[in-house]
Amino acid sequence: MPLRLRGGGGSKRGMPAPPTTTPKALVHQRFGAKACYSVEEVREAVDGGCPGLALPQQTRSVYRCSLDLPGLTVVTPGTFLRKKDAEQAAAQIALDKLGIQPTATVPSNPEEAWDELIARISGFFADENFPSSSHPLIGHMCVTFRRTGDRFGIIPLSAIAACDVKINTLCKLIDPKAEFDPLLVLSLIYNAAKKSPGVSVSDSNLWIQNQKPYSPEAVDVALQRWSGITDLIEVDGIYVPCAMEDEPKTITLRLSHNEHYMVDIVSSLSANDSSHAVVSRTVGKASSEIRLYFSAPNVQFVSKASNNGVSSLGDGNMECLINKRASYISGQTIYGDAILANVGYTRRDSELHTEDVTLSTYYRILLGKLPNGNYKMSRDSILVAELPSVYSRCSWKGLSPRDLLCSFCRLQRLAEPCFTVNTTSAYCKVLGSAVSSEEMEVRKNTENQYASDGSNGKENPDMFKCEVKIYSKMQKILLDYSTADTWTKESDAIHNSSLKVLIWFQSSLKQLNNHGQKLSPSKSTDGFTIYPDNFMHEFAMFLSIYGNTGGDESSTCSTVGSVSMDTSEQKNENNAILTQIEGSDSGIFPTHGSLACISYTASLVVKDKAKRYLLESNNEFEFEIGTGTVRNQLESCVTQLSVNQSACFIAELPPTDLILATATKFSHDLSKISRDNCCLEFSVKLLQVTEPLEDRMEKALFNPPLSKQRVEFAVRYINELHATTLVDFGCGSGSLLDSLLEHPTSLQKIVGVDISRKGLTRAAKSLHQKLSRKSLMQTSVPTAVLYDGSITDFDSRIYRYDIGTCLEVIEHVEEDQASLFGDVVLSSFCPTVLIVSTPNYEYNPILQRSAMPNKEEEPEENAGPCKFRNHDHKFEWTRSQFQHWATGLAEKHNYSVEFSGVGGSGEEPGYASQIAVFRRMASSQEETCQDRELPQPYELLWEWPNASLPSH
Ligand code: SAH
Ligand code: MG
Repeated sequence: MPLRLRGGGGSKRGMPAPPTTTPKALVHQRFGAKACYSVEEVREAVDGGCPGLALPQQTRSVYRCSLDLPGLTVVTPGTFLRKKDAEQAAAQIALDKLGIQPTATVPSNPEEAWDELIARISGFFADENFPSSSHPLIGHMCVTFRRTGDRFGIIPLSAIAACDVKINTLCKLIDPKAEFDPLLVLSLIYNAAKKSPGVSVSDSNLWIQNQKPYSPEAVDVALQRWSGITDLIEVDGIYVPCAMEDEPKTITLRLSHNEHYMVDIVSSLSANDSSHAVVSRTVGKASSEIRLYFSAPNVQFVSKASNNGVSSLGDGNMECLINKRASYISGQTIYGDAILANVGYTRRDSELHTEDVTLSTYYRILLGKLPNGNYKMSRDSILVAELPSVYSRCSWKGLSPRDLLCSFCRLQRLAEPCFTVNTTSAYCKVLGSAVSSEEMEVRKNTENQYASDGSNGKENPDMFKCEVKIYSKMQKILLDYSTADTWTKESDAIHNSSLKVLIWFQSSLKQLNNHGQKLSPSKSTDGFTIYPDNFMHEFAMFLSIYGNTGGDESSTCSTVGSVSMDTSEQKNENNAILTQIEGSDSGIFPTHGSLACISYTASLVVKDKAKRYLLESNNEFEFEIGTGTVRNQLESCVTQLSVNQSACFIAELPPTDLILATATKFSHDLSKISRDNCCLEFSVKLLQVTEPLEDRMEKALFNPPLSKQRVEFAVRYINELHATTLVDFGCGSGSLLDSLLEHPTSLQKIVGVDISRKGLTRAAKSLHQKLSRKSLMQTSVPTAVLYDGSITDFDSRIYRYDIGTCLEVIEHVEEDQASLFGDVVLSSFCPTVLIVSTPNYEYNPILQRSAMPNKEEEPEENAGPCKFRNHDHKFEWTRSQFQHWATGLAEKHNYSVEFSGVGGSGEEPGYASQIAVFRRMASSQEETCQDRELPQPYELLWEWPNASLPSH
């Protein structure tokens, strides 16, 4: 009587095992990673001691569990002795509340799993019709059917682990360590097979077969479905040596028709017993059959009489045999030399599926596991793309930060990250909203503040913030990121927090690996709380392969180590020295915050042989200037070009593994090239520039554009005062000064101050052009000056001007600097009138809605507004915040202040751009400055007349 394939047919107690599933497993099926358990330890007095004696009361740990699900939070009413019981109880309460009944048949405990493992193995073999099924194991059986003509269906035990998902699941239920240990999986299968009726296992070679031959008919069906290897198949794999000083290299595997392919693969490893082939799980892309193959070290799989039958794995002397690189790649413990190959029987194919694995595949798998790796690959730009420093829905390219963080955790074999979104409107929820339950338990949130403005809450929309927790597979917490930053959209909050966490990983892992620094225990910096022990435990393998490369300047293409993690070093090399600038200056330059669209190629050039390899190219690569989205040199290059110009520059060689990951065509050649001899050459063309979001919004929405309205606003005061001198603090590329030349005014001298050399250079160019033309008509302002300097420093050359303007500048500096500027300008520069403008935060929703017409209710993921109008903004103030700042300054420095604005009617919620006009009060005295020394910290950059244009 053959056992059925499914179900617990052979329970020890002689009854069919009930189809039970643990509450936790059910919750997991339903909610996956969105289910968030937190177990709290409680010390409890142990009674039944010796109450009469004055001994210190004994205590023990008991546990209480709370479970967060989308829209529902439950807490166990009592406590439990074991953590897992508390969790199961919490899960059960949640299921009861949600009215979910168990349906699936997942074993509820290791014993049941063990029974089912035994039943499943014998189910395969003892079923006479098994060879006619489409199970990939039949592909393996056909090898011996064909070769020897016997009909026992003999296969390596490893093939079972490779082909059957359910078996792997059962092994994990029996022993969670099976997740990380293919040898343990093998031994569990071995021990289960020993007990499986109808099959026999060979101790000498770890093969398994049916005890009786299958019928010729069944075998015929199998042979028809699965074609065999005729002749010989050659396929490339990667040899991953155990010794860290040896480099991975390409190896050609020869798979013959008369041997099982696993044996063929493992036999290409030196001095190993190829009959003990072991395979890892699949690595790389989810759909791939890429696995690591190795040969089991000499261990005994002791079959214990106990139900669990867990084997002993040798004598603990196996540490030194661990193949660190292979183990890191697969997240499983792999011993000795290993081979990475893409070979296997799948349900899709009718023959052995084989595909070359190149060195660049290998390096891409490694790269994919780094915090920024998948970002680079999703942008198809390994050498150029860097994880941006900020998230914006409008300009983000590639996989979203949340997806990147999830795949990072998955690939590091951690649990799915846990996102908790809080809104400031009095409730808290865990990400996702799948539950349609009336009994939604809504948690009160104590933080009813608007973190970003702190003003009257009623008018403001809901704000969201997102906490991220990273757990190990065993649910140990590694990291908790909680932030005070709030966002108007839930998805913005999630993506921004995800990005912060990714960036934290990127820089911390790099530091840990370069400097062997220690993580400080549970210290919260910038919202991060780290659990160093758990963290180091999970990343031990990472650090062991990236960490031990002390000196990094290796001159040959070696060291897999350090490499990729060092890429951000390149960010230090800021300026690109351009050669061969081609094309005429079109006058359209990318500015901070604008989107640049470029085409580029990156080639490896071998100096002496004058050979070049095209590593990476892209015909249309878009990125935002100023957000760290690309390597600095490239950004520096692009900002020196105008649209339609192209240029070349030479860059520092990237780490070897990045080069090999990009060189899909000739990774083989490149692995032998000496680094000394090579350089990286970029050729770049600027195709198009799209203005920053702020500018786009200001232009699209207002007529005349807001910047023009600001100019007109300033002109009103110039005329009113009959001003002859004007200074523009933070003049940027000179748009105000430039426009003033178009108005006939009383001005005799205009001055611009900025810290951006690039902006000033552009301002000089355009002022120069205008003044040159105007001078012919004799209507020009006699003097114009541009200074390079910070507006928080006083320069005596600009003392007591009639008008000072500071338009859309203060939000670009930190708040304390904005206050410092206020103090310096009103106490030292002392203009008669000072006009300060800055965005009105309360107006943003209107801007954002109008900037994206037709997208009122756009799905969360689509392009949309970001928190501030421009990424460079350090803050954006509400009206009351701005008025508070300005009134305080005015009082302190004996100025009066009035509020106004441009853009909109000024009614609720105020102007788009709010303006404060400060006037010096009559009583303030003129001598203040004269007494002091006369500081002149500013550098004169350009001056009209007698001006020569500054060079770049
Ligand atoms: N006023 C211009 C530019 C606004 S953009 C306009 O309305 O178009 C903000 C400008 O402030 C940038 O050009 C930036 O370089 C400048 N800036 C920021 N911090 C500064 C500082 N400490 N000193 C001088 N300029 C500064
Ligand atoms: Mg601004």
